[in-house]
Amino acid sequence: MKKKIAILGSTGSIGTQALEVIEEHSDLYEAYVLTANRQVDLLIEQARRFQPAQVVIADDSLYEYVRDALADQPIQVYAGADALCQVVQNDEVDIVLTALVGFAGLRPTVAAIEAHKQIALANKETLVVAGELVTQLAMEMRAAILPVDSEHSAIFQSLMGEQSEIEKIILTASGGPFRQCSLDELKHVTPAMALKHPNWDMGAKITIDSATMMNKGFEVIEAKWLFGVEADNIQVVVHPQSIIHSAVQFRDGAVKAQLGVPDMRVPIQLAFSYPYRLASNFDRLDWYHMQNLTFEEPDLEKFRCLSLAFEALRLGGTMPCVVNAANEIVNLAFRQGRCSFLQMPQVIAETMQHAIFIAKPSLDDLFQADAEARRIADELLASNS
Ligand code: NDP
Repeated sequence: MKKKIAILGSTGSIGTQALEVIEEHSDLYEAYVLTANRQVDLLIEQARRFQPAQVVIADDSLYEYVRDALADQPIQVYAGADALCQVVQNDEVDIVLTALVGFAGLRPTVAAIEAHKQIALANKETLVVAGELVTQLAMEMRAAILPVDSEHSAIFQSLMGEQSEIEKIILTASGGPFRQCSLDELKHVTPAMALKHPNWDMGAKITIDSATMMNKGFEVIEAKWLFGVEADNIQVVVHPQSIIHSAVQFRDGAVKAQLGVPDMRVPIQLAFSYPYRLASNFDRLDWYHMQNLTFEEPDLEKFRCLSLAFEALRLGGTMPCVVNAANEIVNLAFRQGRCSFLQMPQVIAETMQHAIFIAKPSLDDLFQADAEARRIADELLASNS
């Protein structure tokens, strides 16, 4: 029996690579649900090619366009954020790949967990915002969360077969395009410069988060919830070559790491096939010609977003949700030329100071904290411009 996969965000960087994996292993997997936000033409093309049972266009103003374009196909077309939560609960779905970006991933991920689905989790914002609630719920519902983020997949792979406690997680970071820039040079960074990641070809939002290193901060939070390790035991190490995808140090001092050519199809495929590994024709490491592998400490003065994420994790409660919301606002504003590179951490830090703090938030509290933090960050941006 083929496994039926719901891909939330099939038109994005992770989503399209997941479809490549499904195509390569079409004897094992089928795309049962495809979803997009606004890229209708790509969604329609994917639907015609992969013949899912259902598609969802999240932006409901585009519903009629998609419905009409697929009228000759045996495909059900839905629209809106609620539809994302409904399709993942379909009895036929085995695996839900959360490859949509931002806070929008939280509700459908919770819905999928409530329906006991296996989660292939790319949408890190879900665990940043609601890590405690989501991991608790996944345990109660016996829904496995398999990491797709390459670092977390590497940690997961390093833990395969281990029974012992983790002493420390070594979370590697490429350092992004501005690793060697001075603080002064960062003042003049443009969106075009920040959108050029040295090693990975990803969606726009995560590429900017990588340039500020907020992405690494989010991954620290994600690692805490996925692997139950406190912030003090997660060490970020800058490794510009992105060959070692992350590592785990055990109580006897032994370190296990996972290495490979940077290619997101490897962790995507493993999240589908676990506990087995499937054959692939992806590039292999070329050991005789591999450049030097180097390691550095991150510069927290230059990359203040990383320390803000650590601070939010230590404070807990609604604070990571506040940081995520403020970050989504400044990230978009930066891409649209309404905020400078160094203003991003400044607005996030000020939003953290102004937001109401709840130590043990419910899911509803998190939705309110998200809305409030967005409003504060927007006001701060407006008052600074
Ligand atoms: P992209 O921006 O490339 O794709 C995002 C997808 O989500 C698109 O299909 C988009 O639709 C859809 N989408 C956007 N907003 C909404 C919304 N409000 N409601 C429903 N769907 C929406 O992102 P990536 O693929 O780069 O990243 C996806 C997630 O995976 C992120 O959380 C990211 O942090 C994580 N991740 C990504 C990695 C990568 O290599 N790209 C690596 C590790 C983690 P549309 O195309 O119509 O806009």
